[in-house]
Amino acid sequence: MTADRTRVLALIDRLLAEHDPAGDEKEFLAARFDLGLAWVWFPEGLGGLHAERSLQTIVEQRLAAADAPNPARTNALGVGMGAHVLLAHATVEQQHRWLRPMFIGEEIWCQLFSEPGAGSDMAALAARAIRDGDEWVVNGQKVWTTLAHVARWGMIVCRTDPDVPKHQGMTYFIVDMTAPGVEVRPLRQITGEAEFNEVYFTDTRIPDGDRIGDVGDGWRIALTTLMNERVAIGGAVAPRGSGPIADAVRTWQEYGHDDPAARDRLMQLWIESEAARLTNLRAAQMRTRGTPGPEGSTSKLVYADVNKRIYEYVVELMGPDGMLYDTYEEIRPDEFTVHPRTKAFLRARANSIEGGTSEIMKNILGERVLGLAGEPRVDKDLPWSRVPR
Ligand SMILES: Cc1cc2nc3c(=O)[nH]c(=O)nc-3n(C[C@H](O)[C@H](O)[C@H](O)COP(=O)(O)OP(=O)(O)OC[C@H]3O[C@@H](n4cnc5c(N)ncnc54)[C@H](O)[C@@H]3O)c2cc1C
Repeated sequence: MTADRTRVLALIDRLLAEHDPAGDEKEFLAARFDLGLAWVWFPEGLGGLHAERSLQTIVEQRLAAADAPNPARTNALGVGMGAHVLLAHATVEQQHRWLRPMFIGEEIWCQLFSEPGAGSDMAALAARAIRDGDEWVVNGQKVWTTLAHVARWGMIVCRTDPDVPKHQGMTYFIVDMTAPGVEVRPLRQITGEAEFNEVYFTDTRIPDGDRIGDVGDGWRIALTTLMNERVAIGGAVAPRGSGPIADAVRTWQEYGHDDPAARDRLMQLWIESEAARLTNLRAAQMRTRGTPGPEGSTSKLVYADVNKRIYEYVVELMGPDGMLYDTYEEIRPDEFTVHPRTKAFLRARANSIEGGTSEIMKNILGERVLGLAGEPRVDKDLPWSRVPR
């Protein structure tokens, strides 16, 4: 056992002994952050212990077993992505300003990347930021922005130089979602919920102090966000037999007793879920520091596919009950919720789109892991302003 591991285990014991996991959520998360158990590989004083990143798995598993609050549920985009971007690219002042309120759920974060003309090809984005003294003035539209309606801060990438090729002319900022000129409009999903939004910026001002990284370096920083997003969506290491596959087993117990073909499909799905879980476990243990590599894309691709097939199976087993839906009233969730089975079936359709589509994940794996020839990218070297659109 390394010294780090001993220290982490002792700190988890202390956290659980001194703070009730079933008590006040913010108080528990604040104590966890202050003990350095938010992200163990972060610096001390910023939610970490400067330990090996692989030790984080122990923290997550012990706290999940104690039913402790999960900060990624209330602030998925902040905790799952924003924190990693701040660690890799922000100044120490920015890290001190944003990390703690993010982790304890006091300030919710959202991600403002996609636009109507820039989804898979995010580097085509058009939202414009023009410098005005110590501030930037932003105009443009973002779309599919999860939780923008409850967010205090947004990670936004804007075009700051239209006259250079698309990947070079973007800059990354953190925008105050309560600033004048930010308008958030709901978008309703197949589940009936309005979990995500369109966001319009009209002469919104961002202080230059809230810029992350250098002017023109937005693409590199966006990649850190995207790599962590894929791990956040598909890379969870839940206990064996939990999550969606547990729903399938429960449904089998309720509906599927006499059918050997249904049992065979259940076993197949269980094996695939377990193989994905063990692959994620191995990837998490190999990650020591820094930004995850293409293994996040593998996890995301497999998760999306297996999750969809699990809920197709669940709804089939339920027969007519699977077609019943309690209400289509529009709901504005303020966190990601655990959906009941039929809703989970509908929500799973988004798994192969959100965080990058499965086709894009396959392109990444083909090019970055298998070393296949890249797809033709004819606009790569053209100034963004000269690309026909
Ligand atoms: C539930 C949900 C939540 C989301 N939350 C956010 C958020 O919080 N913030 C945010 O910025 N975005 C968010 N998104 C947007 C998401 O990132 C985009 O939808 C996604 O990247 C795809 O972009 P697009 O919708 O513009 O589709 P397009 O890029 O237009 O793709 C259309 C189709 O073409 C295929 N395609 C495109 N290019 C290629 C290619 N080169 N090779 C092969 N096939 C290709 C795609 O796979 C897809 O099937 C969310 C999406 C969903 C569904």
